[in-house]
Amino acid sequence: MKRLGKFFATLICCLACLAAQAQTQVVAHRGYWKTEGSAQNSLTALRKAAEARVYGSEFDVLMTADGVAVVNHDDNIGPLDIVRTPFRDIKDHRLPNGETLPTLQAYLEEGKKLEGLQLILEIKPTRDKAHEDRTVDTIVKMVKDLGLETRTEYISFSLNVCEQLVRATGGASDIYYLNGDLTPREAKEKGFTGIDYEHTVFRKHPEWVREAHDCGLKVNTWTVNRKKDLKRMYELGVDFITTDHPEEAARLVREAR
Ligand code: MG
Repeated sequence: MKRLGKFFATLICCLACLAAQAQTQVVAHRGYWKTEGSAQNSLTALRKAAEARVYGSEFDVLMTADGVAVVNHDDNIGPLDIVRTPFRDIKDHRLPNGETLPTLQAYLEEGKKLEGLQLILEIKPTRDKAHEDRTVDTIVKMVKDLGLETRTEYISFSLNVCEQLVRATGGASDIYYLNGDLTPREAKEKGFTGIDYEHTVFRKHPEWVREAHDCGLKVNTWTVNRKKDLKRMYELGVDFITTDHPEEAARLVREAR
């Protein structure tokens, strides 16, 4: 009888693990940019992610000195520090695929047309807390005005940005912390809805995936490009894998099910 109990406990544990894995979905890192005619954080990369039918498309956002949110990974465009530069001085910047630097407004309007694609919006940290706070308020209002609150999921390395997002969104959108230095319970206590840590963090703390799920948090991991890392993260039962190879990752996840 005791053995039978142990068998069922193991079976339930395996089924729970499989159920978690079955939900693992893919996010395109900076859009799907490793394709013909695409570029990181371009509108094309956003459209290509939708065509690849992945869960979401991630992109990076900073706000200029005069309050225009733009989609760009690096803090600088050439010698210009984006947060200290007026929009007029960078608006004509060209991406490697020939597109001009997208504003967040244009990016979200394009994303709105791509039904079924989640918009994974990273707010980049800055050294200026007041600028971070203004950035959060500007972006949250824009997302709300476009009716994209449930389709937008916020991520940030900045603890302050995530805390400001909790205040500004009032629970209308998901918020994931990126920096890898909070336990799931600590992230939960701050009001975040998920953790989105580098895959090396989950290799060091594999128990955090279960702990996060146990306290109702979702788990994303970045930037998972190697097959063996994809397999390991999938086996841990993360909810989302962010990768530069969305089509290959989606295929691997499908085959592993
Ligand atoms: Mg990013």
